[in-house]
Parts: sequence; structure tokens; C-alpha cells
Amino acid sequence: MTWDELEGACQDCTKCSLCETRTKLVFGVGSREAEIMFVGEGPGENEDLTGEPFVGRAGKLLDDMLEIIGLSRRKNVYITNIVKCRPPNNRDPLNAERDACIDWLRAQYKLLRPKIIVCLGRISAGVLIGGDFKITRDHGRWYEKDDIKFMSMFHPAALLRDPTRRPETFVDLKDLQREIREICETTY
Ligand code: SF4
Repeated sequence: MTWDELEGACQDCTKCSLCETRTKLVFGVGSREAEIMFVGEGPGENEDLTGEPFVGRAGKLLDDMLEIIGLSRRKNVYITNIVKCRPPNNRDPLNAERDACIDWLRAQYKLLRPKIIVCLGRISAGVLIGGDFKITRDHGRWYEKDDIKFMSMFHPAALLRDPTRRPETFVDLKDLQREIREICETTY
């Protein structure tokens, strides 16, 4: 399956009830040849209206964070979410919704074959890294599964709510940059 075929099939998805309330499905954005994939939890209001992940204030902050270490959604990363349709009132996606949607993400990373996946926030890390994951304790730690390196950072929306977390996130970003330099071939 090609990227365009996958996106076309996903756009028609009705595998969970979030399809009934979405304005636009939010498939993902960025380079389809990126070595690094960022995965958030799900679209919010602005994302639902535009069809692009991480727009609005949290998206601007994410773009600023990426820029610090030479990354950009227009150039060398791919960005998506665990669920592709907005949960009403920005509630956390339900387990049934995450389970219904995960195959789209799996198909995305089969096509992308990233070297590094960065989970943005506790929901994404809980799904992709799993175990007894706690974002306050485990952000910045590295895990490896199926030859892909995983790490997590605070979600940009959480950093807007609690700016005291920003210094720790800067450390995580610099650590990510070091890992990219070590194992990625085309990013920089
Ligand atoms: S959230 Fe995922 S599984 Fe549910 S309708 Fe949207 S694309 Fe399909």
C-alpha cells in the first residue's frame, strides 16, 4: 500500500464512533521519508477544523521545540496522533477508540520505517511504550522495540499549562538531538 492509498482509506474510516463527530480526520503531516516520527494523543479543536496535527498554540510551541534541534514538520519529521479523529470536548481517547485506531498508526510506521519515535505526552507513551509508564518519571528515557528507538516528552499543551516543565524538556530535546546524530543518516 502506498502513502496516498493509506491516507485515502483512513479518511473514510468509521471504525469507532469518533467518526460521527469529526469535522476533518487528522491523518498526519510531514516528510514521508523522515527518520523521526512524533506521536501525540489526538486532534483538538483547531486540528479537527484544519485537518492538520498540532496547530494552534500547542502546535506553535512544538514547532519552536523542533526548531531548537534543527527539525521541522516541513522538512525532516513526520507528526501524527494515536487517534485520528477528535474526541468530543478534548477528553482522553477511550481504550476502545485507541484500539480501533492503532492499526492506522502501525501502517504509517510500516511505510515510514522511522529510526526514532517520540511520544508526546502520557497517552501516547502509555500506548506505544507501555508498561507502568509515568510521564513525570520516565520522559527522556530510551526504549527499544523492533529496531525502533522510543522516547517521550511532555505534550506541548502540558508545557503551556505548566511552564516549569520546560527546562526538563530542553534536556530531552538535546538528548534526542544527540541520538539523531548517532543513528540517523539523512535528518541533518
Ligand atoms: S478515531 Fe481512528 S478508528 Fe476512530 S473513526 Fe477516526 S480514524 Fe477511524
